[in-house]
Amino acid sequence: MSKLSAVVETKLSLDSKFKFRCHKDIKCFTKCCSNIDILLTPYDVLRLKNRLGISSEEFLDEYAHMKIDEKSSHPYAILKMNDDKERKCPFVTEDGCRVYTDRPANCRYYPIGQGTLKVEGKNGPVDEEFYFFINEKHCLGFEENKEWTVASWRNDQEVDRYDEVNREWKAIQVRKNLPGQPELDENKQVQFYLASYDLDRFRRYIFESRFLKVFDIDEETVEKLRNDDIELIKFGAKYIKYVMMLEESLKVRDEHLKDKGVLKDK
Ligand code: SF4
Ligand code: SF4
Repeated sequence: MSKLSAVVETKLSLDSKFKFRCHKDIKCFTKCCSNIDILLTPYDVLRLKNRLGISSEEFLDEYAHMKIDEKSSHPYAILKMNDDKERKCPFVTEDGCRVYTDRPANCRYYPIGQGTLKVEGKNGPVDEEFYFFINEKHCLGFEENKEWTVASWRNDQEVDRYDEVNREWKAIQVRKNLPGQPELDENKQVQFYLASYDLDRFRRYIFESRFLKVFDIDEETVEKLRNDDIELIKFGAKYIKYVMMLEESLKVRDEHLKDKGVLKDK
């Protein structure tokens, strides 16, 4: 699992090779599931709350806490570890992870960490993904003999779906590497967290407030947002960009602008 403080020593590409095997009979079994900070993505929260049969609000209350990144002022949800000496993950058991098929993306990637950087491309800045080893002394999997490339590991751990759903949200988080970005105030941080993680409440906000009177959203999208959680996550990223004034990703209705005196009648 990627510790928030992981240090990147060697950048890996999709073709980079390594030897690793994790299994139930290994001495260090589940040692990686304690004393860690696991950053959650929007899709992690969706998978976990559905797995546990609870709402996003209940999940965030019980299993997560909010952390504000010092550099970017962005809010993140971090999985809450048990309040004991070992800081064990609430999902670890003697037999392994009890939410294994819905475990977070960072647990899937482990012992590989993944990051994204903004780099200068031909036509301006572009996102560049990179990988690195999370070398923790307790992890004995590197002594085993099964060979992988980063690409085959990703495939085995089924991370593509997670990356696809989280892509736009992750691109916003990369913004922390850009100098000169304004700090988010508390109100924007609350909106950011809501649209990232608290999907059930975000859906209520869209359908039970004046949201649809303020924003001009086509009917097809509105119907998708009513029932489709993946569409809601992707829409959440657009809303965050709007709130942060990164992009005119949503259109405000003319009627609303006239009410506010921003737009005059012709
Ligand atoms: S979610 Fe599962 S794999 Fe991840 S730390 Fe917890 S028990 Fe381990
Ligand atoms: S080999 Fe590494 S990933 Fe597997 S249980 Fe041991 S510490 Fe965890």
